[in-house]
Amino acid sequence: MQENKPVYVTRPALPPFEEFTESLRGIWNSQVLTNNGPFHQQFEKELAAYLGVKYISLFANGTLALVTALQALRITGEVITTPYSFVATTHALWWNNIKPVFVDIEPEYCNLDPEKIEAAVTPQTTAIMPVHVYGNPCDVRTIQEIADTYRLKVIYDACHTFGVTVNGKPVLNFGDLSVMSFHATKVFNTFEGGAIVSHDEKTKRHIDDLKNFGFRGETTVVEPGINAKMNEVQAAMGLLQLKYIDENIEKRRQIVMHYRELLKDVPGLRFLEDMPGVRHCYSYFPVFIDEEEYGLSRDGLYEKLRQYNIFGRRYFYPLISQFPTYRGLESAQPGKMPVAERITEQVICLPLYPELSVDPLEVICKLIKD
Ligand SMILES: *Cc1c(COP(=O)(O)O)cnc(C)c1O
Repeated sequence: MQENKPVYVTRPALPPFEEFTESLRGIWNSQVLTNNGPFHQQFEKELAAYLGVKYISLFANGTLALVTALQALRITGEVITTPYSFVATTHALWWNNIKPVFVDIEPEYCNLDPEKIEAAVTPQTTAIMPVHVYGNPCDVRTIQEIADTYRLKVIYDACHTFGVTVNGKPVLNFGDLSVMSFHATKVFNTFEGGAIVSHDEKTKRHIDDLKNFGFRGETTVVEPGINAKMNEVQAAMGLLQLKYIDENIEKRRQIVMHYRELLKDVPGLRFLEDMPGVRHCYSYFPVFIDEEEYGLSRDGLYEKLRQYNIFGRRYFYPLISQFPTYRGLESAQPGKMPVAERITEQVICLPLYPELSVDPLEVICKLIKD
């Protein structure tokens, strides 16, 4: 096994090379490289239709989309968010001069715990920014009720979700805005890329102005925007990826089913089950190690897999609230978020990508069981 090729936590899904070169020829012919070109327009339309959303704005990446989403709603003061995410979630607040207020997660799916949100609301709170971690939808109804009670905006970091529905309804349609990422490591990629889903034409137009310096027309600048546009190469890639996404998600589903079958009776190892009524996108396969019961720590397992050239990733360790920039905040103090503090020490995400074949998967499970 040692001499085998390394198995990483993910590998990008790529369309056939020849199809992409065909698209590039289109870009060379039109000489339009960016600024809402033909590929951008078509991708925006087809993506909205696929996702079942009314309005979507395409971005250069997910982080710029997060930063812009906060600008679009003029969020200020304090925002309630989760420490259990990729660091960009909180960085987007920081770049907007907003104080992040961390709230603990629930122990089952690791999403922001709605029961703990109200206690963190202050007169400065203007919004809640939860994350659909691992693509599993947050308790969107309860979060909306709290937001309505305190007149807060809700911006979902939906960077782990692609095409996820709850009882047939796209999860992207909840909250005021949802932000997506099409980074190379995500279920759906445009090399790099991102998007904001909005629910009315005015907001969509505002977001489109903001991502292009605030330009509306040739000589009119309506506000101080940024440059966060998706270019034509990214959009062309996105259009091709749409052709294969259902097939890729189905392959991911089958791999997850296989993992669950092989790992179902391992003492001290827990994994996540599908949620009732939810169509998942299977973006990650996290397992949680109870050191005492399993007989080896999470880091012990992580190192053991590495020795066999298998590279799991500890998503999310450390917590965002444990990074130097944020650990001085009152809400970040040790002991304040016991669930997140425990889970961050237990989690490891196993390799999961459409082309992951049965052999390495079975080796991984055997190593975990031995
Ligand atoms: C990937 C990711 C981001 C950042 O997206 P980029 O496209 O890489 O900028 C933000 N939040 C979460 C939860 C992510 O997984």
